[in-house]
Amino acid sequence: MRAAIFGTPGIENLEVRDVEVPRPGPHDVLVRVVRAGVNPVDRFTVTGMRQARPMPHVPGAEFAGIVEEVGEEVEGISRGDAVVDYPRVFCGRCDMCISGREMLCRTGGVLGVASNGGFSEFALIPEAAAFRVDASLGWDLLASLPVSALTAYHGLRASGLRAGETVVVVGASGNTGMFAVQLARIMGARVIAVSRRPRGWLMDMGADDVVEPGSAAEAVSRFTDGRMANVVVDSLGSETTPLSIGLLGPGGRLVSYGTLTGGTVPVDMRQVYSREISIIGSTGGTRAEFGELISIAGSRGLVVRVWRTYPLGEVRRALEDLSAHDRDGRIMLDVERRR
Ligand SMILES: [Zn+2]
Repeated sequence: MRAAIFGTPGIENLEVRDVEVPRPGPHDVLVRVVRAGVNPVDRFTVTGMRQARPMPHVPGAEFAGIVEEVGEEVEGISRGDAVVDYPRVFCGRCDMCISGREMLCRTGGVLGVASNGGFSEFALIPEAAAFRVDASLGWDLLASLPVSALTAYHGLRASGLRAGETVVVVGASGNTGMFAVQLARIMGARVIAVSRRPRGWLMDMGADDVVEPGSAAEAVSRFTDGRMANVVVDSLGSETTPLSIGLLGPGGRLVSYGTLTGGTVPVDMRQVYSREISIIGSTGGTRAEFGELISIAGSRGLVVRVWRTYPLGEVRRALEDLSAHDRDGRIMLDVERRR
């Protein structure tokens, strides 16, 4: 099978070549990958910012495909089923796993980082990570659920968001941002999307307003009659966190699930304590939430905005394009396409 694989960190070392199709163990599922989402975590894996194992390594944290073969002990999943991956490796036995927080597993990690991933014609995953889905939802959307949508969903859940509250999504046109906009709306919130350029498609996804970072504070104040936001979702980090904290009203909650622009942030703690701001870290999501999200995707009609789709052979360009200044939606790999 063809797989994107690297033995030494560096995008220039990532090559697409023939490797052996992995054999499923008793509790494994072999997936013929149809579509894979390209995320910052994949780039960090290839560049060595994330510690990949095993080496040489096949990246790819989120994907969707068709079950090719199942191990002899696997129940409830059969050859021919459409599946997506729960993007975490977890032990199922530690205190975090037992309390239903598989993404915090003490010995686990991100699927595609702590194990081989889906930038490959076939991907081998444990049965506990294979979730059946309805292929009629479309491969682009399905291959956006494991990382992009689940991260947004868990972050909003972790914030304790209630219907009628105001949510600001910073970096709203990004992979997770576009799902945070849709899911916050579905949860009954009013949504202000912050994006560097005006993007009508964010309004179509349910944003009440789309504003630039420079005018966000004024827009949020106007929108809320000076009460400011209840929840701000921020995946960008150092460039935006001070702005994000300033957008919150008393009792506000800042959710951070990424630091694309840097992780070290100067925070004025007077702003935090005097208005009882909560800062909530969020990573991935639980298996239970993933099941809920898959159901929501069908019943509430989640959509994805795709900017570019590359064949597997152009995986390097796909990773490099993550930082393209004119990116206007997500980047996908069409793994079945030859060129
Ligand atoms: Zn565990």
